[in-house]
Amino acid sequence: MSLKFYNTMERRLVDFQPLVEGQVSMYCCGPTVYNYAHIGNLRTYIFEDVLRRTFETLGYEVKHVMNVTDVGHLTGDGDEGEDKMLQGARERGRTVWEIARFFSDAFFEDATRLAIEKPSVVCPATEHIDDMIALIQKLESKGLTYQAGGNVYFDTSKFPEYGRLALLDRQETSVARTSYDSNKRNLRDFVLWFTRSKFDGQAMVWDSPWGRGYPGWHIECSAMSMKYLGESFDLHCGGIDHIPVHHTNEIAQSEGAIGKPWVKYWLHGEFLLLSKEKMSKSTGEFLTLQKLIEKGYDPLDYRWFCLGAHYRSPLTFSWEALEGARNSRRNLLDKVREWKRAGEPLPLSEAGKAYLAQWREALENDLAMPQALSVLWAVVKDTQLPPGEKLALALAMDQVLGLGLAQLSAPVEEAVPSEVQTLVQERLAARKAKDWAESDRLRQEIKNLGWLVEDTPQGPVVKRAV
Ligand code: AMP
Ligand code: ZN
Repeated sequence: MSLKFYNTMERRLVDFQPLVEGQVSMYCCGPTVYNYAHIGNLRTYIFEDVLRRTFETLGYEVKHVMNVTDVGHLTGDGDEGEDKMLQGARERGRTVWEIARFFSDAFFEDATRLAIEKPSVVCPATEHIDDMIALIQKLESKGLTYQAGGNVYFDTSKFPEYGRLALLDRQETSVARTSYDSNKRNLRDFVLWFTRSKFDGQAMVWDSPWGRGYPGWHIECSAMSMKYLGESFDLHCGGIDHIPVHHTNEIAQSEGAIGKPWVKYWLHGEFLLLSKEKMSKSTGEFLTLQKLIEKGYDPLDYRWFCLGAHYRSPLTFSWEALEGARNSRRNLLDKVREWKRAGEPLPLSEAGKAYLAQWREALENDLAMPQALSVLWAVVKDTQLPPGEKLALALAMDQVLGLGLAQLSAPVEEAVPSEVQTLVQERLAARKAKDWAESDRLRQEIKNLGWLVEDTPQGPVVKRAV
């Protein structure tokens, strides 16, 4: 079966053909580092990690680039509202630079705890201002920009393809906006460079041909993706909320500048929902990975919870559902430990190979993770397959699952020393004689030697005291 993905641009499943045979160039919009990532954001990064690992497991060489938005993102995606970094700095009594560093570190710590592989290139926007200025100049030289009210805008009327990704109605005359920027010539025009900031104390500003100021949010992704992946590349990802504004504007800037197709495939992850509402940093109510950990969950319980749904299906978070994921993950880990105790991974028989083929087929079918997991559970339940083959399959699947199964240690069955065995037999005799005091004394003596004895209907069981 060939590798297929749902390309948002075409609204259908299409065969994946990379620009360069055997290689994948992918760009994922990264976090805006003015606050902790919420578990909704993290769902999107888990989806992108599964995508990357799938390519790797299928033998592709992946170049994965992710930006860090540390400047220019306003609370409204369409240039309205407040600067997110300034908001974060004010709320916490820190400088914007301190806020950016702190939340960027916090984000990567969360990612590590979720077994999300680090992108090949991580690029903070503030370190690429010159690249953004150069791109805006290119757009300017092509007549795609105008200046008004001290800002530089992208003129969407000069880019006939504008809105193709989001299937926007080009004739539309009204867009729901809380505050409309009267400098804009067309409703959907957007800022490339701000010089006259609408915020007091704008701390992140740079010199530019248009005056001292800072970039709009969208230009960073166009500039940095092309810098690291070349003018055209294979794949661009993000959450579905990026389709109508952010990705639409990225396409206008990039294709406006290069005059040819920019990204071949667009993949978007559906939202994590909280009680039927989308989770949002801006509205205040959101859950972090740390909160889950404080409630006693392992970060991988959350990863496993996310893996249970297809990336294109909305997923509703609840504590009960997370509890279910924890139980199911523990169950799987117990099985893997059992297989490890039985011995080493074995080469796959025909039946084992058939499972692996089904697993890959599910992944190749637009990352059909629920289908892929049903193959894993079929392996668990198989009564014919030897444990060594089950183990080999689980380890192969874990290249995508990321549960750390290779590091899982098999419980060692330690031989009970003869001295302890003798005491256990003596205790058994004491119990038969109903000499409870002697039985308790022997139990303590056994304990002093580092062993525990438990009475079961099948007789005494001896375990190492931990
Ligand atoms: P941000 O830090 O706001 O730029 O968002 C980072 C990523 O999280 C983007 O790819 C968003 O599309 C995505 N995202 C935001 N909210 C959610 C949510 N509730 N569920 C899943 N992904 C989300
Ligand atoms: Zn982006």
